[in-house]
Amino acid sequence: MNSVDRPQPSLPSDASAVSSGLPVAIIGGGITGLATAWYLRKLGVPVVVFEAKGQPGGVMASRREGDWLLETGPNTLFENTAAISDFLRGVGLENRRLVASPEANKRYVVRRGRPAALPATPLDFFTSPFLSVRTKLGVLAEPFRGRGPAEGDESVADFVTRRLGQEFLDFVVNPFVAGVYAGDPGALSVRHAFPKLHALERDHGSLIRGALRRRTATAGPKGSMISFPEGLAEVPLALASQLGSRLRLNHDVTAVRRIGWLWQVDFTSPQETGSGNFAAVICALPPDALAALKIEGVPESGSLAIMREIPQPAVASVFLGYRRGDVTHPLDGFGMLTPAVEKRRILGTLFSSTLFPGRAPAGHVALTTFVGGSRQPELCDRDDAALVAMVQEELADLLGVHGTPVICRVQRWPRAISQYVVGFQKFKDACYAVEAAAPGLFLGGPCCDGVSLSNCIGAGQRLAEAAGRRIARL
Ligand SMILES: Cc1cc2nc3c(=O)[nH]c(=O)nc-3n(C[C@H](O)[C@H](O)[C@H](O)COP(=O)(O)OP(=O)(O)OC[C@H]3O[C@@H](n4cnc5c(N)ncnc54)[C@H](O)[C@@H]3O)c2cc1C
Repeated sequence: MNSVDRPQPSLPSDASAVSSGLPVAIIGGGITGLATAWYLRKLGVPVVVFEAKGQPGGVMASRREGDWLLETGPNTLFENTAAISDFLRGVGLENRRLVASPEANKRYVVRRGRPAALPATPLDFFTSPFLSVRTKLGVLAEPFRGRGPAEGDESVADFVTRRLGQEFLDFVVNPFVAGVYAGDPGALSVRHAFPKLHALERDHGSLIRGALRRRTATAGPKGSMISFPEGLAEVPLALASQLGSRLRLNHDVTAVRRIGWLWQVDFTSPQETGSGNFAAVICALPPDALAALKIEGVPESGSLAIMREIPQPAVASVFLGYRRGDVTHPLDGFGMLTPAVEKRRILGTLFSSTLFPGRAPAGHVALTTFVGGSRQPELCDRDDAALVAMVQEELADLLGVHGTPVICRVQRWPRAISQYVVGFQKFKDACYAVEAAAPGLFLGGPCCDGVSLSNCIGAGQRLAEAAGRRIARL
């Protein structure tokens, strides 16, 4: 068995003896759990979703304050597959989609202390001075370089240096990794963190050759960055309203117990401490919460303690609003990312009011800056005033921001994005082993399916189909 592939759980031969009609319990009401519930209900399977907090969506949260709209967690959803489009249609949000402004195609990366536009097209790449001639020639030579080691796990940094050179790593990939994972390319596994990139080399021997072949084979829309008029939280809120009382907010699951072929779930809520029986249990939890969950009757579940070792470095999101005249930069792009070699104190800044309409009052601009991550998690220990002052200094230098912000909000994520580090397979294997030993228990989401919102929605579909197959046989 290839350990990268998830084994298909086999159904117990005596499953037919189990009484059917019980709902499936979903633990975690973030996007993974809510999407799982939506897909299960589409299959006709009854569900109950337990969410420890008082609102649905987990880190996917938006806040309206007058004419300002803040995203406190994720800012964009990449609608890159027909399945995501179908999901949004099914949730009833198709007509509320806001596609990112065409200006967002332009992305800035800080180079020599100034934001410089990243080349957006192959022609730009060769004509712009962003990268040296040597690196451009190295990129042209990429299709002629041999494959890397077939076995083992290579870091993103080693992979990119080997194929495209150090400057490409430092000024293109390093800031991109900061933007997606708040991570360090030296620590992340190319195979697990960027499986499509890894597959291009494995299947085509070259990133460029593979990308060209894939483009020819999959002609059609490439996908869009989207949000909604009231922010990304529209998705969990719509899913929650469809679930009604089947979503139990403020219900913290304390234990899951296997009793024969049934599953018992213990929970506490402000009103009661109780438990219920379910046909299956789906854990849609971040790795640290999965490690903390008590799972009884499954001796193998002890191996999930390892999930605590998945790094989830702290990130702070600092939202600042200014009068337009107080910002010199044209803000004509998606945002600005900082490579580690530039030694800044921010990971990057989204030009939020350029990206989508309705994020700032007329005559004002909204900027969302991320601090911390694997690079500098300690910066998140600063108090709000110090964090804001630091971000303002950085923005003053990089974007010509002056004056006092009209609005200023800080959101901290002490354990933010799961890092798919070199050796990540052991975490996936721990999940697979527990699932294989415990028919009716399913684990998914950023602990093993990828961290982006589209990965989480995809995980929801996978989990629902796996649980649905089991329920259909009970
Ligand atoms: C700052 C930040 C910015 C990001 N930006 C983007 C972006 O722009 N685009 C993108 O695609 N992705 C982005 N991501 C990643 C993406 O938002 C997350 O990977 C995704 O939202 C995770 O969803 P989830 O449902 O798996 O987990 P969570 O959102 O963490 O939800 C898990 C839920 O489980 C609940 N829970 C935990 N323990 C229990 C328990 N015992 N009982 C009951 N409930 C429990 C929690 O309260 C929580 O609500 C970002 C992430 C962060 C942190």
